[in-house]
Amino acid sequence: VGWWENASPAAKDPITGVTEAFLADTNPHKINLGVGAYRDDEGKPIVLQCVRNAEAKIAGCEFLEANATEMASSLVEESVKLAYGEHARVLKEGRLAGLQALSGTGACRLFAELQRRFYPELPIYLPRPTWSNHHNVWRDAQVPQRTFQYYHPVSKGLNFAALVDDVKNAPDGSVFLLHPCAHNPTGVDPTEEQWRDISYLFKVKNHFPFFDMAYQGFASGDLDMDAQAIRIFLEDGHLIGCAQSFAKNMGLYGHRVGCVSVLCADAKQAVVVKSQMQQIARAMYGSPPVHGLLLVSTILSDPQTKSLWVKEVKVMANRIKRMRTALRENLEKLGSPLNWEHITNQVGMFCFSGLTPDHVDRLAREFHVYMTRDGRISMAGVTTSNVSYLADAIHEVTK
Ligand code: PMP
Repeated sequence: VGWWENASPAAKDPITGVTEAFLADTNPHKINLGVGAYRDDEGKPIVLQCVRNAEAKIAGCEFLEANATEMASSLVEESVKLAYGEHARVLKEGRLAGLQALSGTGACRLFAELQRRFYPELPIYLPRPTWSNHHNVWRDAQVPQRTFQYYHPVSKGLNFAALVDDVKNAPDGSVFLLHPCAHNPTGVDPTEEQWRDISYLFKVKNHFPFFDMAYQGFASGDLDMDAQAIRIFLEDGHLIGCAQSFAKNMGLYGHRVGCVSVLCADAKQAVVVKSQMQQIARAMYGSPPVHGLLLVSTILSDPQTKSLWVKEVKVMANRIKRMRTALRENLEKLGSPLNWEHITNQVGMFCFSGLTPDHVDRLAREFHVYMTRDGRISMAGVTTSNVSYLADAIHEVTK
């Protein structure tokens, strides 16, 4: 046999298929509800003003090696403040092993590699459902996978009792992946009270929580509020892992800026764990690109630019909230016999609509509306001008 002849085509990412079908459609009313990227009310991608300001600030700045190292430490320092809290004691204690990562995906992969290196037998527990790429990331890192119950299809909310059961039934000392806010794909987050219960249970079971925070700010519009799960676990004295992405909340998708951090028992352990992560990163991709790094560290370390960013995050989150209300109201006005409360109960970029694969296929075929077959609607694709067309279409296929 010749080289590569035993290779067959890899399965397409579900989102890629949706995007391709959307692009191939020439109907002027077409709507793309697949892509998980923010769009403004004209349906256009945007560059945040804080990013433009940071661009202007760094224009002509020399990319000296020493400079990049310094910037990377400032990025990590500022990122962990966002996750663990500006005044978290663990920051002063030096207990965080943090590294710039290739956006959220790269942060997850680095953690998965670290996990395999030190706990090769331990599976990762992923919520059911979860971002589909989580399965790929931990598969390729050769970490075994389990799932735990999360979503309740009837209530279209959290199946808290089942989640608790699965957390209890997992062997003591298991590793769990949690979405701290704006769960993808369901838009369903635990309440503060439920997080407290989960944290308590994790303590009893000695589970390790790994938080994948890809949408900080998108759930409530407030960065601290969206990190409340992490803050609760922190208060309860857990050791924690965390992936952060600036793809959505700074609109820096292709720049690939993120951070991975592990909260360790003490400063000495943090130095050790960081050195391990550095070695893993070095072997996988050397070092991450510097342009996005300069942007993010400039935004986060300049108080004025940072407060502009905080405002812009709120604007994005609020637009999405308005579209949730508009979509639900339009469906109710049409006299839909179905309950659409979950559209406004769910939070963040996505609405897990409850539309079946058949509904989704009909929406594409008859109405030029595209989404993944699990019925996930990217609310960012909904605008003031397409929301009533969308509601009509959904009403038609669900009558
Ligand atoms: N985690 C979750 C839950 C996500 O939804 C995403 C983006 N779709 C990511 C991680 C990674 O995003 P990125 O690598 O673009 O930062």
